[in-house]
Amino acid sequence: FYTEEQTEDYLFKIVLIGDSAVGKSNLLARFARDEFYPNSKSTIGVEFQTQKIDIKGKEVKAQIWDTAGQERFRAVTSAYYRGAVGALVVYDVSRRQTFDSIGRWLNELQTYSDMNVVTILVGNKSDLKDAREVTTAEGKSLAEAQGLFFIETSALDSSNVAAAFQTVVKEIYNILS
Ligand code: GDP
Ligand code: MG
Repeated sequence: FYTEEQTEDYLFKIVLIGDSAVGKSNLLARFARDEFYPNSKSTIGVEFQTQKIDIKGKEVKAQIWDTAGQERFRAVTSAYYRGAVGALVVYDVSRRQTFDSIGRWLNELQTYSDMNVVTILVGNKSDLKDAREVTTAEGKSLAEAQGLFFIETSALDSSNVAAAFQTVVKEIYNILS
């Protein structure tokens, strides 16, 4: 008799990186709890949140890490990246400066992570149509040049949030299985 169901365990560590206030914590809050914080401060950051995702009938667990606001001081440490197999590198489409920082975040990811990390470039706050400073074409072109997946999201209106995380998890699953 089987007393326990046999399960294949997949646990993928995924990190959220990008400048302060681009919406990293809210992307995670929207994805994991379907919540949004209009005036969030860095204090809502949790260390990580584990989310079950169904891939081709298999249950995969994504352990998604969020910063506690330390990116403001450029002090995201190597421990944050250790063991990561996926990354969402996030900018704010309404603040060009956050898009200009992407290269630095990609460098840091490459420096501190111990393997090839499946990475998606995420242009968040797509709902801010009138305030947009970075076009979709610019985002796409940077992603292509760097060999990254690309998506635009809104944690506010939920668009593409699940797809952003699922893209990364699916690709990791495909590589590892
Ligand atoms: P983090 O510092 O990258 O974790 O950013 P937060 O998640 O704390 O978000 C910073 C601010 O941007 C907060 O006031 C959020 O309410 C706001 N915000 C986050 N995502 C979105 C979004 O998709 N659209 C809009 N309009 N605001 C957002
Ligand atoms: Mg945060």
